[in-house]
Amino acid sequence: MQTFYKFKHYDINVGKNSSSGGAFTMISDRILESGGVVYGCVLNEKFNAIHIRAERKEQRDKMRGSKYIQSNISEAFQQIAVDLANKRKVLFSGTPCQVNAIINYLKIKKICMDNFFSVEVICHGVGSEKFFHDYIKDKEKKYHSKAVNVKFRAKYRVGQKQDMAIIFENDKEYHAASTNLDWFFSVYLKNLILRPSCYECKYAQEHRVSDISVADLWKENEIGDWSLVICNTKKGKTLLNGNDCGELMVINKSEVYQPHMKSPCNVPSNRKIFWQIYLKKGYKEVQRYIGNNTLKSKTKYVFAHMLRISHADKWVKKIRR
Ligand SMILES: Cc1cc2nc3c(=O)[nH]c(=O)nc-3n(C[C@H](O)[C@H](O)[C@H](O)COP(=O)(O)OP(=O)(O)OC[C@H]3O[C@@H](n4cnc5c(N)ncnc54)[C@H](O)[C@@H]3O)c2cc1C
Ligand code: SF4
Repeated sequence: MQTFYKFKHYDINVGKNSSSGGAFTMISDRILESGGVVYGCVLNEKFNAIHIRAERKEQRDKMRGSKYIQSNISEAFQQIAVDLANKRKVLFSGTPCQVNAIINYLKIKKICMDNFFSVEVICHGVGSEKFFHDYIKDKEKKYHSKAVNVKFRAKYRVGQKQDMAIIFENDKEYHAASTNLDWFFSVYLKNLILRPSCYECKYAQEHRVSDISVADLWKENEIGDWSLVICNTKKGKTLLNGNDCGELMVINKSEVYQPHMKSPCNVPSNRKIFWQIYLKKGYKEVQRYIGNNTLKSKTKYVFAHMLRISHADKWVKKIRR
């Protein structure tokens, strides 16, 4: 039976560098501290998402933070098989379809899975790597410098969930005042750049493939960053029992809002034309054709941002009520 929790790590630095409350760090620490290895996603120097293997916390720390593009797990299959053959504990973290692929591989190879643990994100879908690379190139042109670091969840603002940040070689930094003002998030959240299979995702349901599922706890949006943690198996429970690095509290399933535990994203009606323009005419032209990056929406969100930082938005909300 599933148990639902909310989790927040006590270490502020963990929270700052994680997407939500740092649940992945809490879970992966248990494996590393018992001599095991952790597999998870990092962005390499070319800004490709890839899965790497970590035996130490410093290596694992690079896996923190969601990268909303597809990660390459091809190296992980054989390495995991070798680790399990060597009786190491293994934690694989990724999207549900990736976890399922690894489990199927281990089953086909008849590899004992007693020491295999999995943690999955509840998944909106993965964005196009090509689009992401064009987006980075465009920003590099604007900032006259090479991008050296990208954070999809930079957490510049308290309680805000998706803050894109790009750090450049010339020490300049880009960060968007809202997801609507950021061109990557704008099209990702409109479901225009998801991988075709994500619209038919068979993992967007209550039954989960992993020992533990992690996600954002949307319910707590107003008061800070908590992770939603769902324990799906007895094995998962062994990783959560005895946790002393953060607040882990059982919550009621009915309090949780998770649309992708019910159904995948819909294909937007303009997806086809978006891709036609993008592939034929390029990134700039598709940017002109669609999106929220209009002067009207920019003005609206800059105004909303100013209200927010002056805390005047709370008064506006009260007056509206
Ligand atoms: C593609 C994607 C879609 C998501 N969609 C939703 C959603 O719709 N609703 C929701 O509530 N939460 C979603 N999440 C989960 C959310 O962004 C956080 O990962 C989650 O709240 C856990 O946060 P944390 O602080 O515990 O983990 P963090 O420390 O931020 O750890 C992130 C974990 O995600 C893994 N990861 C990061 N990027 C990728 C990737 N590209 N592919 C595979 N694994 C990756 C890392 O290996 C690590 O295990 C999504 C995450 C990803 C990567
Ligand atoms: S939405 Fe489904 S198919 Fe797409 S990456 Fe997530 S789990 Fe995989």
